Amino acid sequence: TTTIKDVICPLCGCLCDDIELTLRDNRVVECKNACSLGNAKFLAKNRLMKPIKKVEGAWEEISYEEAIGYTADVLLNAKRPLLFGWSGTHSEAQCVGITIAECIGGIIDNCSSECHGPSIMAIQEVGHPGCTLGQVRQRADVVVYWGANPLAAHPRHLSRYSTYSDSHFLENASSDRRIIVVDVRESETAKIADEFIQIKSGGDYAVFSALRAIILGKEGVLPDTVAGVPKDTLIKLAKTLLNARFGAFFTGIGLTQSKGKYKNVRNAIELIDELNRHTKYTLTPMRGHWNVNGTNQTFTFLTGYPYAVDFSRGVTYFNPGETSAIDLLAKKEVDVCVIIGSDPGAHFPRACNEHLATIPTIVIDPFPIMSTAVATLHIPVAMTGVDAEGIAYRMDTVPLRVQKVMDSTQPDDAELLRRILKTIQERNEQQ
Ligand code: SF4
Repeated sequence: TTTIKDVICPLCGCLCDDIELTLRDNRVVECKNACSLGNAKFLAKNRLMKPIKKVEGAWEEISYEEAIGYTADVLLNAKRPLLFGWSGTHSEAQCVGITIAECIGGIIDNCSSECHGPSIMAIQEVGHPGCTLGQVRQRADVVVYWGANPLAAHPRHLSRYSTYSDSHFLENASSDRRIIVVDVRESETAKIADEFIQIKSGGDYAVFSALRAIILGKEGVLPDTVAGVPKDTLIKLAKTLLNARFGAFFTGIGLTQSKGKYKNVRNAIELIDELNRHTKYTLTPMRGHWNVNGTNQTFTFLTGYPYAVDFSRGVTYFNPGETSAIDLLAKKEVDVCVIIGSDPGAHFPRACNEHLATIPTIVIDPFPIMSTAVATLHIPVAMTGVDAEGIAYRMDTVPLRVQKVMDSTQPDDAELLRRILKTIQERNEQQ
């Protein structure tokens, strides 16, 4: 039995780095410090060990060489191939994926096109007043969760960085730090917050504008209620925000996937600008799936765009709504799809999955997932953070090297993709 400390959890954007694993016979048998989500990931037993291909409606095991050859062939013969996912894998694999997309003139999109893509668009327009999670923990005396429910999606965020964490600079952090939740419903996080402000669905933009007006001393222009929130409540909230010595906003997909989309986030950042004229404030999008933040980093530094990148014109083209995965699949434009580090079978609209079931769909994942049901081929890989290593970006954009804690008999994502790329390049040369 071996015990390994300070392991990074490979599940959500918190990338908790204090996990302790016990290994026996090259298997994780015990996991300490992780939340229930991380625990389930480390201890999952249903790994797929060999590639499986659907032949006349039944699964057949095939070799990695055959799986790589099949993937290279269908990608080379496709007119509108889509490579989708990438948030569950390390950034080295994301870089190889981008090279494949460029090589075949395909489209590469990541999960942020359905979560925080609009946050990135807003940040590109007006900048990012961000900070590390460590600074929030040590300095923030006011933490605002807006359109986010960390108790469900990032269960240790509150204990490591806000409600229940201690601090170097606040004497009684867990009692003195004020937690405010703004949401359209009373979420689990709202129930334990010091203050919950319920707004009407689609009212975020108006509430940000109202708070900006109050901070600018122009509350006289406001009506009696804004998006269902009484003016007095907003004035009180603005006072609380202004009285903070260091405030941190965490924004969720309640902002990015509701009416207003990236304009909501833009207005939130502009509210932070107003607050920063009086005190210190930061804003961090709550990135959900593990290395989804890394997808935006690698995509942007290699292609210039954070997601939904189309290489079919020979140059990069970016137009969310046109080149994003859901739109392409719903319009049945895609004729081959590779899914990696994501599970559209679990969260894409039904029409998209119905289309995936009619085209060659290749899933690359350590586990059988919902998307496997619509796939023609599933290639299992080593699991980053357990038997594969690589770089992942935490939600505050701090890159962390995720270690491998045991040996693997399977290729990792980057290695598998390099072999697919090499096969594509060799077949291209032969033509
Ligand atoms: Fe893993 Fe996220 Fe839970 Fe931390 S909060 S243990 S990173 S799932």
